[in-house]
Amino acid sequence: MRTPRVYATEAVVLRRTDFGEADRILTLFTPQGGKVRAIAKGVRRTTSRLAGHLEPFTRTQLLLASGRDLDIVTQAEGRERLDHLRDDLWHATAAWYVAELVDRFLEDADPHPRLYRLFTRTLRLLDDGAARPDASRGWLALRYFELHLLDELGYRPAFHQCAGCDTPLTPIENGFSAELGGALCPNCARYAQRRLSLDALKVLRLLQTTEWEAVPRLRLSIAVRAEVEAVIQATLRFHLDRDLKSWPFLQAAPPTPASPAPATSA
Ligand SMILES: [Zn+2]
Repeated sequence: MRTPRVYATEAVVLRRTDFGEADRILTLFTPQGGKVRAIAKGVRRTTSRLAGHLEPFTRTQLLLASGRDLDIVTQAEGRERLDHLRDDLWHATAAWYVAELVDRFLEDADPHPRLYRLFTRTLRLLDDGAARPDASRGWLALRYFELHLLDELGYRPAFHQCAGCDTPLTPIENGFSAELGGALCPNCARYAQRRLSLDALKVLRLLQTTEWEAVPRLRLSIAVRAEVEAVIQATLRFHLDRDLKSWPFLQAAPPTPASPAPATSA
């Protein structure tokens, strides 16, 4: 389908780069158009009517004109600002991380409306978490997002059947291999990158197969959390074939309590 010359869409800014004297190049995530690259002209001038509506994570209603390389933002009106994210370093970093995942995994103009809804809901959850602050729900929301992003893109890791021989997994310690696509039974465990405890397997299954509203408030040990993170990170890295820039910052930022907002660069 050819995009009309001028079109309206909702969008969230994933990434922005200063360009020229006063412009910005934006990477947008839209519900129907997927990832779109656009230019906002003059947006860095204090008099710009667009400024303030094109902040990262703001859900905004846009009017765009299709361009040859980049679409041009002609109107912007913020619909939902997530102001609490500024108050807590870990939650803000988590929001950057989620945006980076979408940016890295999606090709331009490849629509994923379900992922868009999951993305905006995850940002909202992180904003709520920053307001409290309570990172335990935020941690689960990130793992939920990662697993359902993989699912949406056709990279769903196997946590019920062995990824090697397809036999149902039994409730014991199993193995895991991102290359082979999931958990491995003891017979196939020689191909595993790492061991996978029963507790971690249960958490991964629960997050993969449960609607978010039904995910309970899990209290997990540091060891199980680390294992779940390692399994998912190995899978993301395998499919991306590169590291995520925001991941080390997320690991370094203390989850709670509220930290002073990071200094923003000019
Ligand atoms: Zn097997």
